[in-house]
Amino acid sequence: MAEARPADVPHYVGGEFRTARSGKWLDSVNPATGEVWARIPAGEASDVDDAVAAALAAFPAWRGKLPMERAAILRSWASLVREDAEELWRLDATDNGRASTEARPAVLGGAAQIEFHAGLAETITSETVAITPAAHTYSVREPFGVVGIIIPWNAPLAMFLAKASAALAAGNTVVVKPPERASVSILAAARRLEEAGIPPGAVNVVCGEGATAGEALADHRDIAKISFTGSTATGRRITQRSVSNLKVLGLELGGKSPNLVFADADLDAAAAGAAAGIFTGSAGQACIAGSRILVEDTIFDEFLERVRAHAAAIRLGDPLDPETTMGPVAFDTQFDKVRGYLELAEAEGARRVFGGRSGKELFEPGHRLSGGYFVEPTLFATPDNRLRVCQEEIFGPVAVAIPFSSEAHALELANDTVYGLAAGVWTSDVSRVHRLADGLRAGTVWVNTYRRLHWALPFGGQKESGNRVSNGPRALDEWLEHKSVWIEHG
Ligand code: NAD
Repeated sequence: MAEARPADVPHYVGGEFRTARSGKWLDSVNPATGEVWARIPAGEASDVDDAVAAALAAFPAWRGKLPMERAAILRSWASLVREDAEELWRLDATDNGRASTEARPAVLGGAAQIEFHAGLAETITSETVAITPAAHTYSVREPFGVVGIIIPWNAPLAMFLAKASAALAAGNTVVVKPPERASVSILAAARRLEEAGIPPGAVNVVCGEGATAGEALADHRDIAKISFTGSTATGRRITQRSVSNLKVLGLELGGKSPNLVFADADLDAAAAGAAAGIFTGSAGQACIAGSRILVEDTIFDEFLERVRAHAAAIRLGDPLDPETTMGPVAFDTQFDKVRGYLELAEAEGARRVFGGRSGKELFEPGHRLSGGYFVEPTLFATPDNRLRVCQEEIFGPVAVAIPFSSEAHALELANDTVYGLAAGVWTSDVSRVHRLADGLRAGTVWVNTYRRLHWALPFGGQKESGNRVSNGPRALDEWLEHKSVWIEHG
């Protein structure tokens, strides 16, 4: 789409692409240039009501389909998403600045995940339990009804494909609230739902801001369950709002994940992994970003030099350019927030190892990207894990390196956070691997790698990083509730 003339992209309610009832729009800004390139509807509570009503009306027929029928329809959707992959990743990258190296595989992975969930639909079974000869007793799993899905801006399309397909595979109908900063790719993927055979109303996408459309969804009494991915602060707010009807909540929240580097590791691989974990991985805008790099003190300075070399090779630029390995921060206020942390780190006494420049400091005046929200890869060092920059989620290409003196010290520092999403361990000591895999309080532990995810492996957070698991062979469990039946036959 041409950047010169912003496109108006309607949202999808009850099988129709519509404007918001208020007629208001929100701007979508291309973070690489700072220019408005699209507008999305500013949906409010009345739009959410329409979407929930459409999903309620669609529920009996969708639930009534056999699992294999739902699976066949989902597989058609996956094929159509694959057909549109080139357009979809470009929309995603234009909206949130994710480089093509990530945005492109995310669409193809999303299509594969839809198929994976289609396969799981065919495995939903009930269990007969023999209790007494006088009764037939069994337990079935059934969909909740209408479920809400609230999505953040850092990986909107992939999350939409993954979550909506799991909810549908289980027989629910869905109302999705995309991120107000990056909704366009989700709306484009929704265009093919009906063509795939998903009935109108079974999936609805209502755009709008969190405080209006998001809260209306969290409040809604006809929504039985909400799957929320986003910040821990918003997770708390949604928890408060959802008490209206005691919704079931699946929360996937923030992180401040440690990458532990021991002197006996393959240090080249560890430095590459540490840099990829926080810089080229979505410019640090990932819940699983390895934002704390814990390094054994005997190799501390040498290791930071290795990370510097990897950071220096990163190509900052237009996300659509195949040569680009790191894009911008996704929007203006996030850009300001990240730059605020650059100042805070110095004010708190952390030493800047490299980086620190942003925006106009990175491009010649008049350069096409000089209005973009770019921050260069930045590393600070400090011995004090209690600094705010070591405890708060920055969500940008900014890491803090912290030295440790022993394995016990490393573990203590790693777990000294309210978060528990992910952790990386770099070592050649197998016994240490087992001890740390056991001791780290994190939903995922990577060893001699970082930031590897797959839909076949469960993913979720511990502590304030979340309370539910998505992905994996039991991915549909999150979208099903249990019912026990006792039939007395005397
Ligand atoms: P956010 O919490 O600001 O917003 C996420 C979504 O919630 C958006 O759609 C937003 O409109 C909506 N929202 C905001 N306020 C709301 C409210 N009061 N009621 C209902 N909905 C509301 O998060 P973000 O800035 O979009 O995303 C970044 C955060 O997401 C980071 O903390 C990151 O770690 C987290 N995240 C977690 C995972 C995970 O799987 N654990 C994955 C990706 C991102």
